Amino acid sequence: MPRYHIWTVGCQMNEADSTKLAAGLQCLGWEQTPRPEEADLVVLNTCVVRQKAEQRGISKLGALRRLKERSNGRRPKIAVMGCMVGLRTDGLLKRFPFVDVFARPQAFSDVLTAVMPQEDTGGEFWPETFPRTPGPTAYVPVIHGCNKFCTFCIVPYRRGRERSRPIIEVAHEVEVLVARGVKEVTLLGQTVEAYGHDLPDRPSLADLFRAIHDIKGLERIRFLTSYPKDMTDDIIHAVAELPKVCEYFNIPVQSGDDTILARMRRGYTLSEYRDVVNKIRRWLPAAAISTDVIVGFCGETDEQFRRTYDLLAELRFDKVHVAAYSPRPGTIAWRTLADDVPQQVKMDRLHIIEELQEGIAADVNARLQGTLQEVMIEGEKGEKGGAARSADPRPKLYGRTRGDKIVHFYGQACPGELVNVRIEKTSAWSLQGRQTGDEVEE
Ligand code: SF4
Repeated sequence: MPRYHIWTVGCQMNEADSTKLAAGLQCLGWEQTPRPEEADLVVLNTCVVRQKAEQRGISKLGALRRLKERSNGRRPKIAVMGCMVGLRTDGLLKRFPFVDVFARPQAFSDVLTAVMPQEDTGGEFWPETFPRTPGPTAYVPVIHGCNKFCTFCIVPYRRGRERSRPIIEVAHEVEVLVARGVKEVTLLGQTVEAYGHDLPDRPSLADLFRAIHDIKGLERIRFLTSYPKDMTDDIIHAVAELPKVCEYFNIPVQSGDDTILARMRRGYTLSEYRDVVNKIRRWLPAAAISTDVIVGFCGETDEQFRRTYDLLAELRFDKVHVAAYSPRPGTIAWRTLADDVPQQVKMDRLHIIEELQEGIAADVNARLQGTLQEVMIEGEKGEKGGAARSADPRPKLYGRTRGDKIVHFYGQACPGELVNVRIEKTSAWSLQGRQTGDEVEE
């Protein structure tokens, strides 16, 4: 049986693509291997949103070139997909001549076609027909691409304009996933609230929630990533009303300074951003909210950075993903703005935000001490980090709350089960507790 190995870096969209590609390969009779040197096909699913991610892809490619050169007999096919692959591939081909296939994001059927026996290549691959997942959770892309063109971002150039999948198609995929044991789906889009604006009846994300909410066996619905301007009252109401939709929002703010936001062409002011966060907190007091921040963007002064710091201290998010700005070739900022904040200053600012957020997350999580949380089991602790000793004879499990916080606890349950856990210990990064038979209070 031929074997494949997939290496994935980057966002949840890439993870979703890799899962579907793996499912397709398995439909063709291929078997997964964790060791690239044993594979007949090695796929790199790449990301170029940050320089660091791009470099990781490039150094993996270097290792694969060496692998291909020294293979005695087994010369694996190498495929590169994801955001490293733009419209034109001639530059990539010149740089990496040992790569057999370049496939644009979501175009993973190109990889499948390349490994299919010649006689089978007549039919068209529609990847949604073989959704598959190894656990109780699954990503479901519902809108591809992005129309926003923030000046720092490469995504619209690599993933194209926004294209929503019809409700009926998404609902069918979720039904198939649930039939195969999935209990929680995360609906994905670069700007997920833009869902539906390009479809004939202009359905909204709220309509999509309602369309899949009553699928029997589906326990939780999540959605990622939010764009502040696209977040409507209707969507927030739907999250509040529909019990299966988890009250967790990831709403990137990127900067706490209006001038920098305008330079990034984010399309909103801080006051508009605050309104969205405050509305969610008013209507959904238990909601968890995370954000993304870029420090050291072109021309960012100490004072402008301080405003980002102050905003985070004021809004006290559950989580902050912080990145130091790195210019991405082809973007508006790369073409028109000077990357003039020294690297050391960027790193200092990044560490200042990390330190601030660690304290905030510790406080925010400490408020959960003693509460009862609904947790979906993802696995046993031993599978990931080694068994911990305790007087409790039950295994140590881990899972997530509705607010996407990781909980380690002693209990007895299977992956995908929802259990109630009394939180006994908290930190900035996770929660610990004990499974109980008590009911979570509404
Ligand atoms: S909203 Fe902006 S940052 Fe997000 S994917 Fe689109 S262009 Fe990139």
